[in-house]
Amino acid sequence: MTKKEKASYVIKELLKIYPQPSCTLNYNKPYELLIATILAAQSTDERVNKITAELFKKYPTLESFAEANISELENDIKPVGFYKNKAKSIKETARILVEKYNGTLPTTIEELVKLKGVGRKTANVIMANIYGIPSIIVDTHCKRLSNRLGLVNSKDATKIEFELKKIVEPQLYTIFSNLMVYHGRAVCKAIKPKCEVCTIKDVCEYFKARK
Ligand code: SF4
Repeated sequence: MTKKEKASYVIKELLKIYPQPSCTLNYNKPYELLIATILAAQSTDERVNKITAELFKKYPTLESFAEANISELENDIKPVGFYKNKAKSIKETARILVEKYNGTLPTTIEELVKLKGVGRKTANVIMANIYGIPSIIVDTHCKRLSNRLGLVNSKDATKIEFELKKIVEPQLYTIFSNLMVYHGRAVCKAIKPKCEVCTIKDVCEYFKARK
């Protein structure tokens, strides 16, 4: 089985369990997804969703984030961790979006990654979910599963993204990424993956090596 065939098989099998995999961060406006994704770095979507409902109520516009009192913003986002850096990034990014982009989001990865606190993962989340462009989103789950399955052999997120782009059907990039998140959370956990109940174990290198 080639890597391309394996990726197709994995997508087909996982769609049977997770028929509609989607972004698990809550948001109503495009910039809210950007802020939620900045907050999600080194944290979990669950933890982020717990604070964003209140956060987006308290700061209802990009301008209000741009003008936020930094200590107060730090305090508001404390539960997600790395709050000092994240508060700085959010305030600065909001200011640039207001001043340079008239309150909208940039439309290319190249421009998105120039924003503070925005790496390729966040940029791809925006491309996929706001602009509907199929994108490979390499988060911790995608990184772990792609390696365990033997689709890639790298710890470097950018390398993984470009490797996966050669293997996964382009129109399925976002679906594949979201499936990695769903399966990573439910079955292929970082510690103690539930291989015995995993429906893709027959094509998994990690499972084969364990036997
Ligand atoms: S067999 Fe185990 S390691 Fe492989 S994908 Fe399934 S849960 Fe993860």
